[in-house]
Amino acid sequence: MTASAKSAAAQPGPDLPADLNTLDEKVWAQGVARGADGVVTVQDLAVTRLAEEFGTPAYILDEADFRARCRAWKDAFGPGADVYYAGKAFLSRAVVRWLAEEGLHLDVCSAGELATALDAGMPAERIGYHGNNKTPAEIERAVAAGVGRIVVDSFQEIARVAHAARALGVRQKVQIRVTVGVEAHTHEFIATAHEDQKFGLALAGGQAEEAARRILGHDSLELTGVHSHIGSQIFDMAGFEVSARRVVELLGRIRDEHGAELPEIDLGGGLGIAYTPADDPREPQEVAKRLAEIVGHECDAAGLRTPRISVEPGRAIVGPTAFTLYEVGTVKPLEGLRTYVSVDGGMSDNIRTALYDAEYSVALVSRASDAEPMLVRVVGKHCESGDILVRDAYLPADLAPGDLVAVPATGAYCRALASNYNHALRPPVVAVRDGAARVIVRRETEEDLLRLDVG
Ligand SMILES: *Cc1c(COP(=O)(O)O)cnc(C)c1O
Repeated sequence: MTASAKSAAAQPGPDLPADLNTLDEKVWAQGVARGADGVVTVQDLAVTRLAEEFGTPAYILDEADFRARCRAWKDAFGPGADVYYAGKAFLSRAVVRWLAEEGLHLDVCSAGELATALDAGMPAERIGYHGNNKTPAEIERAVAAGVGRIVVDSFQEIARVAHAARALGVRQKVQIRVTVGVEAHTHEFIATAHEDQKFGLALAGGQAEEAARRILGHDSLELTGVHSHIGSQIFDMAGFEVSARRVVELLGRIRDEHGAELPEIDLGGGLGIAYTPADDPREPQEVAKRLAEIVGHECDAAGLRTPRISVEPGRAIVGPTAFTLYEVGTVKPLEGLRTYVSVDGGMSDNIRTALYDAEYSVALVSRASDAEPMLVRVVGKHCESGDILVRDAYLPADLAPGDLVAVPATGAYCRALASNYNHALRPPVVAVRDGAARVIVRRETEEDLLRLDVG
């Protein structure tokens, strides 16, 4: 072992990988591979060529993988269920068209997301509308567009949606967003009676039942079911099971009190993906099977007809399909600590590390290398020491300015949360399919920046 590898091994950090040239298929899009010349390709297109044509940083999205994941979720749940893609993870007109073609539904939670969905031709009845504070104007627009459901989040909103639907002479389908007292994150979940958060109407204290009573009292509203979303980046199904049980109990109470047997339940999104090889996500088949079993069992016990199930994966569909391609600008070894690798992006294109302490991996993609591993921290170019993309990872010790590196699993909540901090120009999203690449969201320009700044 060389001195650099020894000092690297003494650091707390990720496991030393056996071979830095290997791309772990868990964290990379399906179409990504390293070619015989050492250059990484996606759908057979070399990242070096993509960098030349589209510049860096850039989000490179494997369209075939995106579509395959849509189909995997849809097939796993079958014709008796609906899969709503959570648009907030990443939404563009191309994505909306792919979803429409693959037969998925779409969740939006703002006027901007609704406008994107409608503009790209998603049928309104396949759109669900979320949010804890939809404005009256947003509600009116959603009802006028004919969205398939509005997931109501407060008593005030019930009155607002009822009013908007009455004024437009329509009957709007709604679900109740219920907080079931389950908080799930990664491998843990907590089941409590109460949840201290801004979303939804609580089961505890009877808020959700009161919401049902009020909705059923409005002729302009049709209550189709109840909705629960318990967290994000979840690997453990136990939280979904508790949530499903509590939601079915609520359906039973609504039937007993009002004689209304609601036909739908939505169990939300939040399924985790592999950001690093250590993560172990659930497969769609497994999720679908467990949820169907538990809902079926609970409904049998309560003497209820089994409702139509829907789910709302965002991250689990788009997250693994993209990586962010960067060029290395500087390599700064800090003796006895680690080496800082600065790339040409940063917290403006991926805020998740700074915001959530998210873990990512990174690889040298413009060439293979036999050099020793060195412990690195990959950082951006922003004026902020918290501007970290990958906190701890290994890259080859011969890494040099001009090399291209890529951070995988950046399809979800990266472009969607991108900012103009330091007047950074937000990177493009380049979709690759059948050996061809095309820009689906173009790179921002200085002209774009200055156009908003009216002086
Ligand atoms: C964010 C969100 C989702 C999607 O979450 P993922 O972690 O991306 O799967 C689904 N439903 C609701 C209501 C959400 O707020």
